Amino acid sequence: MFSKRINALSPSMTIAISSLARDLKAQGKDVLSFSAGEPDFNTPQPIKDAAIEAIREGFTKYTAVAGIPELLDAVAGKLERENGLKYDREMILTSNGAKQSLFNLTQALIDEGDEVIIPAPYWVTYPELVKYAGGVPVVIEAKEENRFKITPEQLEAALSPRTKLLILNSPSNPTGSVYSRDELAALGRLLEGTDVLVASDEMYEKLLYDGAEFVATAGVSDDLYRRTVTINGLSKAVAMTGWRFGYLACPDKELVKKMTSLQSQSTSNICSITQKAAIPALEGKVDEEIEQMRRAFEARAHEAVKLFNEVEGLSVLPPQGAFYLFVNIKEISNDSMKFCEELLSRYGVAVVPGIGFGMEGYFRFSFATDIVTIREGIRRIEKFVKEWAK
Ligand code: PMP
Ligand code: GLU
Repeated sequence: MFSKRINALSPSMTIAISSLARDLKAQGKDVLSFSAGEPDFNTPQPIKDAAIEAIREGFTKYTAVAGIPELLDAVAGKLERENGLKYDREMILTSNGAKQSLFNLTQALIDEGDEVIIPAPYWVTYPELVKYAGGVPVVIEAKEENRFKITPEQLEAALSPRTKLLILNSPSNPTGSVYSRDELAALGRLLEGTDVLVASDEMYEKLLYDGAEFVATAGVSDDLYRRTVTINGLSKAVAMTGWRFGYLACPDKELVKKMTSLQSQSTSNICSITQKAAIPALEGKVDEEIEQMRRAFEARAHEAVKLFNEVEGLSVLPPQGAFYLFVNIKEISNDSMKFCEELLSRYGVAVVPGIGFGMEGYFRFSFATDIVTIREGIRRIEKFVKEWAK
């Protein structure tokens, strides 16, 4: 009865585990969830005020599919001010979260059998969207020794005449690794003279720790500017997950037109109220609030890394960005699914198995939760690990 496409699609593991944890809590179980990539902070007031104002003034109708001109200008302004990148309105498409941006891109670009290079560990959604579009994910395993970043040699070996797209995500979900300008330039040089595009998912751009520097892929060279589709949103840094706002920008107006057609036949414009609410955030009006949240995440990262590294059998690298730790459990288990299932059923702690991100021997711990819960969660994980070792 169902299409082959839909039968081959796995549901999002991050969402599945967060929902399970939420259900268990609702049933009265003592569950601590570190599974969702969702800030525990509230959306800053100026954004809420802009939304309330939009409702008051009756801004509640359909808009242009790609977004209202004011919003497109705010996106262009952000990219120019913060990243030194110039885009016209026709080069920008706003969508229901960066997830839809990625959906639009993969559907508009990929044909049956086209290859898409995805560094692992990857965000769970990338390979599924590629497969859903008929493409073939070509996964490169980034090594922990290389801070979970792929090397030019690995990229070179993965490139083929069928390669259509390379997906980069820096800062990374789930490892928190950040690519430097030189590293991006070295990867970019291998693409020169090819038709390969780069999808650069920059969702965690503003969540950087201990002096790490974010570099926008499109800003590294003229060649990378031409071939990069920049994807970003406000969900993480501005605590706006539920508002559903994401965008993409690329210099290829034809490509943006095609994706806009797809969106016109699926979801149309994003919520008119969200559009108005996103503008102050894009214009830098909540930068102070963003910085406060970033500092809180940084303090949590420091403490969580220290506590995890004190647990015998576990180890973790300090994240340079995002709000996840990718915890190495190889001394204890090479079955991350079983490890996480038992941890949840016996100790009420929800984390996401590394296998969901394409790498066995790890779990992902989100520190987008208050410090007291983080301490208690790691205490329970320590008990569980000690018991497992017996
Ligand atoms: N990219 C990455 C790396 C993410 O972790 C997420 C998390 N949801 C997204 C994109 C999509 O976010 P959203 O759809 O909420 O904009
Ligand atoms: N991206 C977040 C995460 O990795 C939210 C869940 C999702 O969209 O998959 O947990």
